[in-house]
Parts: sequence; C-alpha cells; structure tokens
Amino acid sequence: MERLTDLVWYDGKFLGIEWSGWKVIGWLGNAVFFSRFFVQWYVTEKRRRVVVPTAFWWLSLTGSLLLLIYSLRKRDSVFIFAYAFTWIPYIRNLVIHYRHKDAHRQCPKCAWSCPPPSRFCSQCGTPLEVPEPETAQ
Ligand SMILES: [Zn+2]
Repeated sequence: MERLTDLVWYDGKFLGIEWSGWKVIGWLGNAVFFSRFFVQWYVTEKRRRVVVPTAFWWLSLTGSLLLLIYSLRKRDSVFIFAYAFTWIPYIRNLVIHYRHKDAHRQCPKCAWSCPPPSRFCSQCGTPLEVPEPETAQ
C-alpha cells in the first residue's frame, strides 16, 4: 500500500510531477489525445466492425493542439515537429465527414438517412429524389 501511495504522491508532489499551469495544459493534451483510442475502441466493439467515429478526430485535433501549445511554450523542437502538422489530416477528415453527412438524403416515406449515391431507400425501397447535377455557367 505504501508503494502505491508513493506512486501517486512522490517526493511531496502528485505523481512526482512539478505542477504548473503549463504542465496542466500538457497533461490535459496527453489525456485528451490518449482518450481517442478508448472512444474508437468502444465504438468498434459496440458496432462489431472497425469504426473511426467523428469524436476520434475531434479528440485528435484538440489533444494535438494542446500538446503543440505546450511544446511551443517549452521550445522543444522534437515535440513541436511531432505536433506541428498533425492537425491537417484531422481537419481534412472532419471536412470530408461533414460533407458526406450533408450529402445524405432523407427517405420521404420512412425518414431513414440514406448515404450518397443511393437512389433507393435501404430500409423501405422508396425511390429517392436525385438532385440535379450542377451545371457550369
Ligand atoms: Zn425509407
């Protein structure tokens, strides 16, 4: 029990860490970034297929930005480079996700959200309205 207490409260500090506002930001970034794995794992187990939920990209973006802010403050070039560009694919995946979500069409009969490029509702078979293709002017 004493060893467990030493692990949590070591050298008069929580986890033996010299805490400051910046340490809180850095560890919060770590916690948010690491939590994405549990979110992805949970959703995958729940649906019984590999799924990368939108929350995974939001947690990736938030965690990596917090870690980038922390690393800029610490002026650690290795740490800065590790998080300087990771936001690009996270934002791109979020943009693609929301575009795809907006392109869904709602079935007029059962209100099911049908993914593009469906021409018929996958739940009830009702034909879906196909939007006119945009013409160049
Ligand atoms: Zn339907």
